[in-house]
Amino acid sequence: MKFSVTIVFDNNCVIPEVKPEWGFACVIKTGNEMILFDTGNDGRILLDNLAKLHLDPYDLSKVVISHMHWDHVGGLPDLLQACPQSPVYLPASALEDDIRIIRRMCRAVIPVREAVEIAPDLYSTGELPGYAWEQSLIYKGNGELSIITGCAHPGIVNIVRRAQDMFPGLPVSLLLGGFHLHHTAPADIVTVYRELQAAGVKTIAPAHCTGEGAIEKCRDIFGDGFLTAGVGFNFMLT
Ligand SMILES: [Zn+2]
Ligand SMILES: [Zn+2]
Repeated sequence: MKFSVTIVFDNNCVIPEVKPEWGFACVIKTGNEMILFDTGNDGRILLDNLAKLHLDPYDLSKVVISHMHWDHVGGLPDLLQACPQSPVYLPASALEDDIRIIRRMCRAVIPVREAVEIAPDLYSTGELPGYAWEQSLIYKGNGELSIITGCAHPGIVNIVRRAQDMFPGLPVSLLLGGFHLHHTAPADIVTVYRELQAAGVKTIAPAHCTGEGAIEKCRDIFGDGFLTAGVGFNFMLT
């Protein structure tokens, strides 16, 4: 297995054993590393879901936070009690006070401003501007990209374009995460999905703040390329 991503916190579930709650978090495995991307809004639920999915937080090598909204960073204090060895990659625009508080709870805080390799073949887009400044993750393998977003406040199309600026010419084998389309007009949602298709997105798993209507529209437009996201979702590249 070269790469896998498992959703561990989301407002929907795809298996019965886990609990849904507003927010987002997923576990990424690449090389010998296991990385948590975001923490949801509640550390107890996060830790329970990890246990139900047989993922031990003590095995986490790194924690990456997409942006500083509570539904992505709220589980961090409880989580870090279970993995105090993990450095935490925060968007560089995080408030000084937040950085100071988190630094006391973990081995190190690493602010991310520019694109950077975080683990073997796993990259941060760097902070992109938006309603909240945000970083997304890109896995590059098998000549394709897998892109994982938190809320996509900088715009989901902008995030995919950034990834393809970093790695020109590569199609997107997976686009997963919150797309933040829950307040977007239906006609504009269709435009977004058409732009993603034109950019080479083959498989898509909208989660979290994409919005139920926009998720249904995604299923219509992508057909077999649509995957149902939620806690327990797993995608793997071998
Ligand atoms: Zn969110
Ligand atoms: Zn957000």
